[in-house]
Amino acid sequence: IAPPSTVSLDDRFARALPEMALPWHAEEAPEPRLLVLNEPLAAELGLDPAALRSDEGVRLLVGTAVPAGARPVAQAYAGHQFGGYNPRLGDGRALLLGELTDAEGRVRDLHLKGSGPTPFSRGGDGLAAVGPMLREYVVSEAMHALGIPTTRSLAVVATGRPVYRETPLPGAVLARVASSHLRVGSFQYARSTGDPDLLRRLADLAIERHHGGAAQAGNRYLALFEAVVAAQASLVARWMLVGFVHGVMNTDNTTISGETIDYGPCAFMEAVDPDTVYSSIDAGGRYRYGSQPLIAEWNLARFAESLLPLIDDEQERAVELAVAALQGFRPAYGDAWSAGMRAKLGLPAGLDDAVAAPLVDDLLRLLQAGHVDHTSFFRGLGSAARGEAGPARDLFLDLAGFDAWAERWRALAPDAEAMDRVNPVYIPRNHLVEEALDAATAGDLGPLERLLEAVTRPFEARPGLERYAAPAPADFGAAYRTF
Ligand code: AMP
Ligand code: MG
Ligand code: MG
Repeated sequence: IAPPSTVSLDDRFARALPEMALPWHAEEAPEPRLLVLNEPLAAELGLDPAALRSDEGVRLLVGTAVPAGARPVAQAYAGHQFGGYNPRLGDGRALLLGELTDAEGRVRDLHLKGSGPTPFSRGGDGLAAVGPMLREYVVSEAMHALGIPTTRSLAVVATGRPVYRETPLPGAVLARVASSHLRVGSFQYARSTGDPDLLRRLADLAIERHHGGAAQAGNRYLALFEAVVAAQASLVARWMLVGFVHGVMNTDNTTISGETIDYGPCAFMEAVDPDTVYSSIDAGGRYRYGSQPLIAEWNLARFAESLLPLIDDEQERAVELAVAALQGFRPAYGDAWSAGMRAKLGLPAGLDDAVAAPLVDDLLRLLQAGHVDHTSFFRGLGSAARGEAGPARDLFLDLAGFDAWAERWRALAPDAEAMDRVNPVYIPRNHLVEEALDAATAGDLGPLERLLEAVTRPFEARPGLERYAAPAPADFGAAYRTF
Protein backbone atom coordinates (compact mmCIF):
# COMPACT_ATOMS: atom_id res chain seq x y z
CA ILE A 1 0.00 0.00 0.00
CA ALA A 2 1.46 3.29 -1.14
CA PRO A 3 1.99 6.52 0.82
CA PRO A 4 0.73 9.62 -1.02
CA SER A 5 4.14 10.82 -2.19
CA THR A 6 4.64 7.60 -4.11
CA VAL A 7 1.15 7.45 -5.62
CA SER A 8 1.76 7.15 -9.29
CA LEU A 9 -0.85 8.71 -11.46
CA ASP A 10 -1.05 8.11 -15.17
CA ASP A 11 -2.07 10.79 -17.65
CA ARG A 12 -3.78 8.57 -20.23
CA PHE A 13 -6.65 10.93 -20.90
CA ALA A 14 -4.34 13.93 -21.35
CA ARG A 15 -2.03 11.97 -23.65
CA ALA A 16 -4.78 10.49 -25.79
CA LEU A 17 -6.89 13.66 -26.00
CA PRO A 18 -4.70 16.73 -25.44
CA GLU A 19 -7.30 18.85 -27.24
CA MET A 20 -9.74 18.08 -24.44
CA ALA A 21 -7.33 18.31 -21.50
CA LEU A 22 -6.32 21.69 -20.20
CA PRO A 23 -3.39 21.45 -17.74
CA TRP A 24 -4.52 23.21 -14.60
CA HIS A 25 -3.98 23.36 -10.87
CA ALA A 26 -6.07 23.44 -7.73
CA GLU A 27 -6.54 26.59 -5.74
CA GLU A 28 -4.60 26.90 -2.46
CA ALA A 29 -6.59 25.70 0.54
CA PRO A 30 -5.77 27.90 3.54
CA GLU A 31 -6.57 25.33 6.18
CA PRO A 32 -7.27 21.87 4.79
CA ARG A 33 -9.02 19.52 7.21
CA LEU A 34 -10.11 15.98 6.40
CA LEU A 35 -13.83 15.54 7.12
CA VAL A 36 -14.34 12.02 5.90
CA LEU A 37 -12.13 9.35 4.35
CA ASN A 38 -13.34 6.18 2.66
CA GLU A 39 -10.85 3.65 4.03
CA PRO A 40 -12.17 0.58 2.19
CA LEU A 41 -12.03 2.48 -1.10
CA ALA A 42 -8.53 3.74 -0.33
CA ALA A 43 -7.42 0.15 0.21
CA GLU A 44 -9.10 -0.91 -3.02
CA LEU A 45 -7.03 1.73 -4.79
CA GLY A 46 -3.82 0.57 -3.16
CA LEU A 47 -3.55 3.74 -1.06
CA ASP A 48 -2.58 3.75 2.61
CA PRO A 49 -5.44 5.27 4.66
CA ALA A 50 -3.05 6.36 7.44
CA ALA A 51 -0.86 8.16 4.91
CA LEU A 52 -3.90 9.86 3.38
CA ARG A 53 -4.69 11.24 6.83
CA SER A 54 -1.24 12.85 7.11
CA ASP A 55 -0.67 16.50 6.17
CA GLU A 56 0.76 15.44 2.87
CA GLY A 57 -2.11 13.03 2.21
CA VAL A 58 -4.71 15.69 2.91
CA ARG A 59 -2.94 18.07 0.55
CA LEU A 60 -3.07 15.39 -2.14
CA LEU A 61 -6.82 15.02 -1.55
CA VAL A 62 -7.37 18.75 -1.86
CA GLY A 63 -5.16 19.05 -4.94
CA THR A 64 -2.38 21.22 -3.57
CA ALA A 65 0.23 18.45 -3.44
CA VAL A 66 0.56 16.84 -6.84
CA PRO A 67 2.35 13.49 -6.96
CA ALA A 68 5.51 13.38 -9.06
CA GLY A 69 4.71 12.81 -12.71
CA ALA A 70 1.01 13.67 -12.40
CA ARG A 71 -0.45 16.27 -14.74
CA PRO A 72 -3.85 17.50 -13.48
CA VAL A 73 -6.19 18.72 -16.19
CA ALA A 74 -9.59 20.31 -16.57
CA GLN A 75 -11.56 18.28 -19.09
CA ALA A 76 -13.44 19.92 -21.94
CA TYR A 77 -16.97 18.81 -22.73
CA ALA A 78 -20.19 20.21 -24.15
CA GLY A 79 -23.73 19.23 -23.26
CA HIS A 80 -27.46 19.69 -23.36
CA GLN A 81 -28.58 21.25 -20.10
CA PHE A 82 -32.34 20.98 -19.60
CA GLY A 83 -32.65 20.43 -23.34
CA GLY A 84 -30.57 23.44 -24.43
CA TYR A 85 -27.20 22.88 -26.04
CA ASN A 86 -24.08 24.48 -24.58
CA PRO A 87 -21.02 23.95 -26.78
CA ARG A 88 -18.54 24.65 -24.01
CA LEU A 89 -19.09 23.40 -20.49
CA GLY A 90 -16.05 21.56 -19.19
CA ASP A 91 -14.70 21.20 -15.68
CA GLY A 92 -15.52 24.59 -14.19
CA ARG A 93 -14.74 23.51 -10.66
CA ALA A 94 -13.08 20.15 -11.06
CA LEU A 95 -9.79 18.56 -12.04
CA LEU A 96 -8.76 15.16 -13.25
CA LEU A 97 -5.64 14.40 -11.21
CA GLY A 98 -4.91 11.35 -13.31
CA GLU A 99 -5.60 7.65 -13.54
CA LEU A 100 -4.47 4.94 -11.20
CA THR A 101 -4.64 1.19 -11.41
CA ASP A 102 -6.52 -0.39 -8.54
CA ALA A 103 -5.76 -3.59 -6.67
CA GLU A 104 -7.75 -5.57 -9.25
CA GLY A 105 -5.94 -4.03 -12.18
CA ARG A 106 -8.76 -1.70 -13.21
CA VAL A 107 -7.87 1.81 -14.38
CA ARG A 108 -9.72 4.48 -12.43
CA ASP A 109 -9.83 8.27 -12.52
CA LEU A 110 -8.88 10.25 -9.44
CA HIS A 111 -10.75 13.53 -9.71
CA LEU A 112 -11.39 16.57 -7.52
CA LYS A 113 -14.56 18.62 -7.34
CA GLY A 114 -14.57 22.09 -5.79
CA SER A 115 -10.85 22.62 -6.44
CA GLY A 116 -11.09 26.20 -7.70
CA PRO A 117 -11.85 28.09 -10.90
CA THR A 118 -10.63 26.93 -14.29
CA PRO A 119 -10.89 28.47 -17.76
CA PHE A 120 -14.23 26.61 -18.01
CA SER A 121 -15.78 28.32 -14.99
CA ARG A 122 -18.08 30.62 -17.02
CA GLY A 123 -18.60 33.10 -14.18
CA GLY A 124 -18.85 30.43 -11.48
CA ASP A 125 -16.48 30.59 -8.53
CA GLY A 126 -15.06 27.11 -9.09
CA LEU A 127 -15.82 26.19 -5.50
CA ALA A 128 -18.07 23.85 -3.59
CA ALA A 129 -19.56 23.99 -0.11
CA VAL A 130 -19.16 21.30 2.53
CA GLY A 131 -22.87 20.32 2.40
CA PRO A 132 -23.17 19.43 -1.29
CA MET A 133 -19.82 17.59 -1.32
CA LEU A 134 -20.90 15.50 1.66
CA ARG A 135 -24.23 14.87 -0.08
CA GLU A 136 -22.36 13.43 -3.05
CA TYR A 137 -20.21 11.37 -0.68
CA VAL A 138 -23.17 9.88 1.20
CA VAL A 139 -25.41 9.28 -1.77
CA SER A 140 -22.73 7.83 -4.05
CA GLU A 141 -21.54 5.44 -1.31
CA ALA A 142 -25.14 4.44 -0.61
CA MET A 143 -25.68 3.77 -4.31
CA HIS A 144 -22.54 1.63 -4.43
CA ALA A 145 -23.73 -0.34 -1.42
CA LEU A 146 -27.06 -0.85 -3.18
CA GLY A 147 -25.14 -2.46 -6.03
CA ILE A 148 -25.77 0.39 -8.47
CA PRO A 149 -22.91 1.43 -10.77
CA THR A 150 -21.61 4.79 -9.61
CA THR A 151 -18.61 7.02 -9.20
CA ARG A 152 -17.18 6.60 -5.72
CA SER A 153 -16.17 9.08 -3.06
CA LEU A 154 -12.74 8.81 -1.52
CA ALA A 155 -12.73 11.83 0.77
CA VAL A 156 -14.12 15.25 1.56
CA VAL A 157 -11.65 17.87 2.76
CA ALA A 158 -12.77 21.22 4.16
CA THR A 159 -10.60 23.93 2.64
CA GLY A 160 -10.85 26.58 5.35
CA ARG A 161 -12.08 29.00 2.66
CA PRO A 162 -15.60 30.38 2.71
CA VAL A 163 -17.85 29.88 -0.30
CA TYR A 164 -20.46 32.56 -0.92
CA ARG A 165 -23.90 31.22 -1.82
CA GLU A 166 -26.93 32.88 -0.24
CA THR A 167 -24.79 33.06 2.89
CA PRO A 168 -21.11 32.28 3.46
CA LEU A 169 -20.58 28.52 3.80
CA PRO A 170 -17.50 26.46 4.59
CA GLY A 171 -15.79 25.31 1.39
CA ALA A 172 -14.74 21.74 0.58
CA VAL A 173 -13.19 19.53 -2.05
CA LEU A 174 -14.50 16.08 -2.89
CA ALA A 175 -11.98 13.48 -4.07
CA ARG A 176 -13.92 11.29 -6.45
CA VAL A 177 -13.06 8.03 -8.17
CA ALA A 178 -14.66 6.93 -11.42
CA SER A 179 -14.04 4.28 -14.00
CA SER A 180 -13.73 7.38 -16.20
CA HIS A 181 -15.23 10.83 -16.65
CA LEU A 182 -16.09 10.28 -20.31
CA ARG A 183 -19.63 11.51 -20.91
CA VAL A 184 -22.04 11.97 -23.75
CA GLY A 185 -21.02 15.64 -23.53
CA SER A 186 -17.38 14.66 -24.21
CA PHE A 187 -18.48 13.21 -27.55
CA GLN A 188 -20.64 16.24 -28.31
CA TYR A 189 -17.59 18.41 -27.75
CA ALA A 190 -15.30 16.26 -29.91
CA ARG A 191 -17.87 16.12 -32.69
CA SER A 192 -18.38 19.89 -32.62
CA THR A 193 -14.68 20.52 -33.27
CA GLY A 194 -15.16 18.92 -36.70
CA ASP A 195 -11.95 16.93 -36.19
CA PRO A 196 -12.70 13.30 -37.12
CA ASP A 197 -9.40 12.12 -35.69
CA LEU A 198 -10.20 13.57 -32.25
CA LEU A 199 -13.61 11.92 -32.25
CA ARG A 200 -12.03 8.60 -33.21
CA ARG A 201 -9.40 8.81 -30.46
CA LEU A 202 -12.12 9.57 -27.93
CA ALA A 203 -14.22 6.62 -29.08
CA ASP A 204 -11.16 4.36 -29.03
CA LEU A 205 -10.39 5.41 -25.46
CA ALA A 206 -14.00 4.73 -24.46
CA ILE A 207 -13.82 1.26 -26.00
CA GLU A 208 -10.50 0.52 -24.33
CA ARG A 209 -11.65 1.67 -20.90
CA HIS A 210 -15.25 0.48 -20.82
CA HIS A 211 -16.51 -1.59 -23.67
CA GLY A 212 -13.62 -3.77 -24.78
CA GLY A 213 -15.98 -6.19 -26.51
CA ALA A 214 -16.75 -3.53 -29.13
CA ALA A 215 -13.17 -3.77 -30.42
CA GLN A 216 -13.96 -7.21 -31.86
CA ALA A 217 -17.12 -6.11 -33.68
CA GLY A 218 -17.29 -5.56 -37.43
CA ASN A 219 -18.41 -1.96 -36.80
CA ARG A 220 -16.67 -1.10 -33.54
CA TYR A 221 -18.22 2.35 -33.14
CA LEU A 222 -21.72 1.07 -33.67
CA ALA A 223 -20.87 -1.64 -31.13
CA LEU A 224 -19.68 1.07 -28.72
CA PHE A 225 -23.00 2.82 -29.11
CA GLU A 226 -24.91 -0.42 -28.50
CA ALA A 227 -22.85 -1.12 -25.39
CA VAL A 228 -23.57 2.32 -23.95
CA VAL A 229 -27.27 1.94 -24.74
CA ALA A 230 -27.25 -1.33 -22.80
CA ALA A 231 -25.27 0.11 -19.88
CA GLN A 232 -27.54 3.15 -19.53
CA ALA A 233 -30.72 1.08 -19.87
CA SER A 234 -29.56 -1.15 -17.05
CA LEU A 235 -28.40 1.78 -14.93
CA VAL A 236 -31.61 3.78 -15.16
CA ALA A 237 -33.69 0.65 -14.47
CA ARG A 238 -31.74 0.25 -11.25
CA TRP A 239 -32.36 3.86 -10.29
CA MET A 240 -36.07 3.36 -10.84
CA LEU A 241 -36.12 0.20 -8.73
CA VAL A 242 -34.75 2.03 -5.68
CA GLY A 243 -36.65 5.27 -6.28
CA PHE A 244 -33.58 7.34 -7.08
CA VAL A 245 -34.18 10.71 -8.73
CA HIS A 246 -30.96 12.04 -10.27
CA GLY A 247 -32.29 15.54 -10.76
CA VAL A 248 -29.90 16.79 -13.48
CA MET A 249 -29.84 14.26 -16.31
CA ASN A 250 -28.04 16.60 -18.69
CA THR A 251 -25.96 14.96 -21.41
CA ASP A 252 -22.78 16.03 -19.62
CA ASN A 253 -23.98 14.01 -16.63
CA THR A 254 -24.54 10.84 -18.68
CA THR A 255 -21.49 8.60 -18.56
CA ILE A 256 -20.13 6.30 -21.24
CA SER A 257 -19.20 3.77 -18.54
CA GLY A 258 -22.79 3.43 -17.30
CA GLU A 259 -21.91 4.77 -13.85
CA THR A 260 -24.12 7.27 -12.06
CA ILE A 261 -22.30 10.62 -11.94
CA ASP A 262 -22.66 14.13 -10.53
CA TYR A 263 -24.85 13.95 -7.48
CA GLY A 264 -26.31 17.44 -7.30
CA PRO A 265 -29.93 17.98 -6.40
CA CYS A 266 -30.58 14.23 -6.30
CA ALA A 267 -32.85 12.51 -3.80
CA PHE A 268 -34.70 9.28 -3.09
CA MET A 269 -38.44 9.22 -3.67
CA GLU A 270 -40.52 8.38 -0.61
CA ALA A 271 -44.23 8.24 -1.58
CA VAL A 272 -44.50 6.48 -4.94
CA ASP A 273 -45.27 9.09 -7.59
CA PRO A 274 -43.88 9.40 -11.12
CA ASP A 275 -44.16 13.19 -10.84
CA THR A 276 -41.61 13.33 -8.04
CA VAL A 277 -39.16 16.23 -8.49
CA TYR A 278 -36.86 17.55 -5.80
CA SER A 279 -34.52 19.86 -7.65
CA SER A 280 -35.16 23.56 -7.15
CA ILE A 281 -33.84 24.25 -10.66
CA ASP A 282 -36.11 21.70 -12.39
CA ALA A 283 -39.23 23.86 -12.36
CA GLY A 284 -40.68 22.18 -15.47
CA GLY A 285 -40.20 18.69 -14.08
CA ARG A 286 -38.10 17.61 -17.07
CA TYR A 287 -36.14 15.23 -14.84
CA ARG A 288 -39.07 13.92 -12.78
CA TYR A 289 -38.77 10.36 -11.48
CA GLY A 290 -41.08 8.87 -14.09
CA SER A 291 -39.32 10.54 -17.04
CA GLN A 292 -35.84 9.22 -16.32
CA PRO A 293 -35.94 6.34 -18.83
CA LEU A 294 -37.18 8.66 -21.60
CA ILE A 295 -34.52 11.22 -20.79
CA ALA A 296 -31.80 8.56 -20.86
CA GLU A 297 -33.03 7.53 -24.30
CA TRP A 298 -33.02 11.18 -25.44
CA ASN A 299 -29.47 11.62 -24.17
CA LEU A 300 -28.42 8.47 -26.04
CA ALA A 301 -29.87 9.95 -29.23
CA ARG A 302 -27.53 12.92 -28.72
CA PHE A 303 -24.68 10.45 -28.25
CA ALA A 304 -25.64 8.71 -31.50
CA GLU A 305 -25.62 12.04 -33.36
CA SER A 306 -22.09 12.70 -32.15
CA LEU A 307 -20.93 9.28 -33.31
CA LEU A 308 -22.50 9.30 -36.78
CA PRO A 309 -19.32 10.05 -38.77
CA LEU A 310 -17.64 7.04 -37.13
CA ILE A 311 -20.57 4.69 -37.64
CA ASP A 312 -20.59 4.98 -41.43
CA ASP A 313 -19.07 7.25 -44.09
CA GLU A 314 -22.46 7.55 -45.67
CA GLN A 315 -24.64 9.66 -43.39
CA GLU A 316 -27.96 8.05 -44.33
CA ARG A 317 -26.58 4.60 -43.60
CA ALA A 318 -25.08 5.81 -40.30
CA VAL A 319 -28.44 7.22 -39.21
CA GLU A 320 -30.20 3.99 -40.13
CA LEU A 321 -27.76 1.93 -38.06
CA ALA A 322 -27.87 4.31 -35.11
CA VAL A 323 -31.66 4.46 -35.05
CA ALA A 324 -31.88 0.67 -35.11
CA ALA A 325 -29.41 0.45 -32.22
CA LEU A 326 -31.26 3.10 -30.23
CA GLN A 327 -34.41 1.05 -30.62
CA GLY A 328 -32.69 -1.47 -28.41
CA PHE A 329 -33.02 0.89 -25.46
CA ARG A 330 -36.69 0.29 -24.65
CA PRO A 331 -36.58 -3.50 -24.62
CA ALA A 332 -33.29 -3.47 -22.70
CA TYR A 333 -34.73 -1.07 -20.15
CA GLY A 334 -37.98 -3.01 -19.95
CA ASP A 335 -36.21 -6.31 -19.40
CA ALA A 336 -33.91 -4.90 -16.72
CA TRP A 337 -36.79 -3.21 -14.96
CA SER A 338 -39.10 -6.25 -15.07
CA ALA A 339 -36.38 -8.59 -13.88
CA GLY A 340 -35.59 -6.20 -11.04
CA MET A 341 -39.24 -5.82 -10.09
CA ARG A 342 -39.73 -9.59 -10.02
CA ALA A 343 -36.72 -9.86 -7.74
CA LYS A 344 -38.16 -7.18 -5.45
CA LEU A 345 -41.37 -9.19 -5.25
CA GLY A 346 -39.49 -12.43 -4.66
CA LEU A 347 -40.97 -14.02 -7.76
CA PRO A 348 -39.31 -16.85 -9.65
CA ALA A 349 -37.29 -15.62 -12.66
CA GLY A 350 -39.10 -17.94 -15.07
CA LEU A 351 -42.58 -16.72 -14.15
CA ASP A 352 -44.84 -16.12 -17.17
CA ASP A 353 -44.96 -12.45 -18.12
CA ALA A 354 -48.73 -12.68 -18.53
CA VAL A 355 -48.90 -13.28 -14.76
CA ALA A 356 -46.07 -11.04 -13.59
CA ALA A 357 -46.78 -7.91 -15.66
CA PRO A 358 -50.36 -7.26 -14.50
CA LEU A 359 -49.37 -8.08 -10.92
CA VAL A 360 -46.65 -5.42 -11.06
CA ASP A 361 -48.88 -2.87 -12.83
CA ASP A 362 -51.66 -3.30 -10.30
CA LEU A 363 -49.22 -2.94 -7.43
CA LEU A 364 -47.79 0.29 -8.82
CA ARG A 365 -51.29 1.69 -9.16
CA LEU A 366 -52.05 0.84 -5.53
CA LEU A 367 -48.77 2.29 -4.29
CA GLN A 368 -49.29 5.51 -6.19
CA ALA A 369 -52.93 5.90 -5.22
CA GLY A 370 -52.02 5.32 -1.57
CA HIS A 371 -48.88 7.55 -1.55
CA VAL A 372 -47.07 4.59 -0.07
CA ASP A 373 -43.41 4.88 0.91
CA HIS A 374 -41.48 3.00 -1.77
CA THR A 375 -38.61 1.69 0.36
CA SER A 376 -40.66 0.75 3.44
CA PHE A 377 -43.20 -1.06 1.31
CA PHE A 378 -40.82 -3.35 -0.54
CA ARG A 379 -38.83 -4.18 2.56
CA GLY A 380 -42.04 -4.72 4.52
CA LEU A 381 -43.30 -7.05 1.85
CA GLY A 382 -40.47 -9.41 2.75
CA SER A 383 -42.16 -9.82 6.14
CA ALA A 384 -45.46 -10.43 4.37
CA ALA A 385 -43.79 -13.27 2.48
CA ARG A 386 -42.99 -14.74 5.91
CA GLY A 387 -46.62 -14.45 6.96
CA GLU A 388 -46.42 -11.13 8.80
CA ALA A 389 -48.41 -8.78 6.59
CA GLY A 390 -48.35 -5.77 8.96
CA PRO A 391 -45.24 -3.83 7.92
CA ALA A 392 -46.41 -3.61 4.29
CA ARG A 393 -50.19 -3.70 4.81
CA ASP A 394 -50.23 -0.95 7.43
CA LEU A 395 -48.93 1.51 4.85
CA PHE A 396 -52.25 1.42 2.96
CA LEU A 397 -55.56 3.08 3.64
CA ASP A 398 -57.15 0.89 0.97
CA LEU A 399 -56.69 -2.33 2.92
CA ALA A 400 -59.09 -4.31 0.76
CA GLY A 401 -57.14 -3.28 -2.33
CA PHE A 402 -53.86 -4.37 -0.78
CA ASP A 403 -55.31 -7.65 0.54
CA ALA A 404 -56.71 -8.61 -2.85
CA TRP A 405 -53.38 -7.90 -4.49
CA ALA A 406 -51.41 -9.70 -1.76
CA GLU A 407 -53.50 -12.83 -2.16
CA ARG A 408 -52.58 -13.07 -5.85
CA TRP A 409 -48.93 -12.38 -5.01
CA ARG A 410 -48.71 -14.87 -2.12
CA ALA A 411 -50.13 -17.61 -4.35
CA LEU A 412 -46.86 -17.39 -6.33
CA ALA A 413 -44.83 -18.47 -3.27
CA PRO A 414 -42.51 -15.44 -3.01
CA ASP A 415 -39.02 -16.01 -1.59
CA ALA A 416 -38.59 -13.77 1.48
CA GLU A 417 -34.81 -14.24 1.80
CA ALA A 418 -34.27 -13.32 -1.83
CA MET A 419 -36.42 -10.21 -1.31
CA ASP A 420 -34.34 -9.05 1.64
CA ARG A 421 -31.23 -9.22 -0.53
CA VAL A 422 -32.61 -6.70 -3.03
CA ASN A 423 -34.96 -4.48 -1.00
CA PRO A 424 -32.96 -2.12 1.20
CA VAL A 425 -33.89 -1.21 4.74
CA TYR A 426 -31.78 1.95 4.67
CA ILE A 427 -31.52 4.55 1.95
CA PRO A 428 -30.20 8.09 2.40
CA ARG A 429 -33.56 9.58 3.22
CA ASN A 430 -33.88 13.26 2.49
CA HIS A 431 -34.55 14.43 6.02
CA LEU A 432 -31.60 12.41 7.34
CA VAL A 433 -29.29 13.72 4.64
CA GLU A 434 -30.32 17.29 5.43
CA GLU A 435 -29.85 16.70 9.14
CA ALA A 436 -26.36 15.26 8.55
CA LEU A 437 -25.29 18.05 6.17
CA ASP A 438 -26.60 20.79 8.45
CA ALA A 439 -24.76 19.33 11.42
CA ALA A 440 -21.55 18.86 9.41
CA THR A 441 -21.75 22.43 8.12
CA ALA A 442 -22.00 23.54 11.73
CA GLY A 443 -19.00 21.38 12.65
CA ASP A 444 -20.60 18.17 13.99
CA LEU A 445 -19.78 15.09 11.91
CA GLY A 446 -21.62 12.64 14.19
CA PRO A 447 -24.93 12.50 12.31
CA LEU A 448 -23.08 12.03 9.01
CA GLU A 449 -21.06 9.14 10.39
CA ARG A 450 -24.16 7.40 11.75
CA LEU A 451 -26.03 7.89 8.47
CA LEU A 452 -23.08 6.43 6.55
CA GLU A 453 -23.04 3.44 8.87
CA ALA A 454 -26.70 2.75 8.02
CA VAL A 455 -26.64 3.30 4.27
CA THR A 456 -23.38 1.54 3.50
CA ARG A 457 -24.90 -1.77 4.72
CA PRO A 458 -28.39 -1.15 3.35
CA PHE A 459 -29.78 -4.69 3.34
CA GLU A 460 -28.90 -5.64 6.93
CA ALA A 461 -31.54 -4.50 9.40
CA ARG A 462 -29.74 -3.64 12.64
CA PRO A 463 -31.11 -2.78 16.09
CA GLY A 464 -30.68 0.85 17.08
CA LEU A 465 -30.96 2.10 13.51
CA GLU A 466 -34.78 2.24 13.37
CA ARG A 467 -34.95 5.94 12.67
CA TYR A 468 -32.83 5.44 9.54
CA ALA A 469 -35.50 3.13 8.14
CA ALA A 470 -38.46 5.45 8.72
CA PRO A 471 -39.93 7.91 6.21
CA ALA A 472 -39.61 11.64 6.81
CA PRO A 473 -41.92 13.17 9.39
CA ALA A 474 -45.06 14.59 7.77
CA ASP A 475 -43.91 18.19 8.15
CA PHE A 476 -40.75 17.51 6.15
CA GLY A 477 -41.89 15.58 3.10
CA ALA A 478 -43.76 17.19 0.23
CA ALA A 479 -42.11 20.59 -0.03
CA TYR A 480 -38.58 19.21 0.10
CA ARG A 481 -36.25 20.87 -2.40
CA THR A 482 -32.64 20.14 -3.20
CA PHE A 483 -30.09 22.66 -4.46
P1 AMP B 1 -23.01 20.07 -12.84
O1 AMP B 1 -24.37 20.61 -12.69
O2 AMP B 1 -22.25 19.91 -11.56
O3 AMP B 1 -22.95 18.86 -13.68
O4 AMP B 1 -22.18 21.20 -13.62
C1 AMP B 1 -22.52 21.69 -14.88
C2 AMP B 1 -21.44 22.64 -15.36
O5 AMP B 1 -21.36 23.79 -14.52
C3 AMP B 1 -20.06 22.06 -15.39
O6 AMP B 1 -19.38 22.63 -16.48
C4 AMP B 1 -19.49 22.51 -14.08
O7 AMP B 1 -18.09 22.51 -14.06
C5 AMP B 1 -20.06 23.91 -13.97
N1 AMP B 1 -20.13 24.40 -12.60
C6 AMP B 1 -21.00 24.00 -11.64
N2 AMP B 1 -20.79 24.69 -10.50
C7 AMP B 1 -19.77 25.54 -10.72
C8 AMP B 1 -19.08 26.52 -9.94
N3 AMP B 1 -19.39 26.76 -8.66
N4 AMP B 1 -18.08 27.21 -10.54
C9 AMP B 1 -17.74 26.99 -11.80
N5 AMP B 1 -18.34 26.08 -12.59
C10 AMP B 1 -19.35 25.37 -12.07
MG1 MG C 1 -21.78 17.60 -14.43
MG1 MG D 1 -19.93 18.85 -12.21
